[in-house]
Amino acid sequence: MRPVVPLVSRMSAAEQAEWLAVFRERIPECEVKPLNDMTTLERSATKVAIVANPEPSDLRQLPALVWVQSLWAGVERLVSELDGMPLSIVRMTDPQLAETMAEAVLTFTLYLHRDVPGYRKQQAQRIWAERAHCLPQDRTVGILGLGNLGTLAARRLRANGFKVAGWSRTPQTVDGVECYFGPDGLDAVLSIADILVVLLPLTNETRGLLDARRLSLLPKQAGLINFARGAIVDVSALTQALDDGKLSHAVLDVFAREPLPADDPLWGHPNVTILPHVSAPTTPSTASLIVAENLSRYFATGEIPAAVDRQRGY
Ligand code: NAP
Repeated sequence: MRPVVPLVSRMSAAEQAEWLAVFRERIPECEVKPLNDMTTLERSATKVAIVANPEPSDLRQLPALVWVQSLWAGVERLVSELDGMPLSIVRMTDPQLAETMAEAVLTFTLYLHRDVPGYRKQQAQRIWAERAHCLPQDRTVGILGLGNLGTLAARRLRANGFKVAGWSRTPQTVDGVECYFGPDGLDAVLSIADILVVLLPLTNETRGLLDARRLSLLPKQAGLINFARGAIVDVSALTQALDDGKLSHAVLDVFAREPLPADDPLWGHPNVTILPHVSAPTTPSTASLIVAENLSRYFATGEIPAAVDRQRGY
């Protein structure tokens, strides 16, 4: 008999149906179904669930649950909401997601590098004027976070001629990238980053990390790209730095509250580009292969994939 694996999520019915269809095709060795469709017997035998921001109360209906496979790469909500539940949390680490993020980082680094926001403003005023031009090799991009996403983004930027400096919690090495780590390393990266890209997880240590003091360390007219989590950046300090002309422009894909409320002043800020959390969406066709691989290995060998360190928060 095929093992039954619940999909536990707060997705819309349509979104859930799309995932179930992909799982049916890609994971034939399991029967993936919504929690509500499971019998009491199936629930009591369940050791692994596929989750996407599940209600903790739903997971409590699975008394034998040992681990959860998240469909999302960011797991701060799972880590905090499942506090006290002794489960292994496995996050989505899809190489395609890293490719998609690297593409987004390159796109918006070039957007700032070639001063597209400045030319948009000139166009609105019908101004024909050349703005300052800089070569990529004279521009340093700082990347906060050298994990799955930050490392590939750093390589993509290097391949496009930028100088790249990266920052992580523990020492890392990436070819051609000046790597820093720890609190002192952060100040060093900030002081040289003409464009700063945030690709850190949201944890107790990174919440509010980019405050007024740290933003003030960036070179004058630096740009900021936040593709990680909104709460890592102090938005009022950022707005102040943009208003003061200390920073030139911010590209924000993530916000402390999403969707960004319609009356939020960020929407109308002339030096802010807003994206609706789209820099690297999970792609069902490739993410389902990762889930399939993890589940197949688990059912064949009992091996649980590398899990989030709950203490560390990522
Ligand atoms: P990851 O592989 O876990 O890498 C995290 C990196 O951040 C590591 O280099 C880690 O350092 C570093 N880090 C963590 N805490 C730190 C601290 N206190 N000080 C310095 N460095 C620290 O994560 P990932 O897969 O690259 O993803 C990063 C984040 O991107 C996710 O958590 C998620 O929030 C976000 N994301 C956003 C989107 C989107 O569409 N906007 C999509 C996917 C993911 P070490 O190397 O020393 O461990």
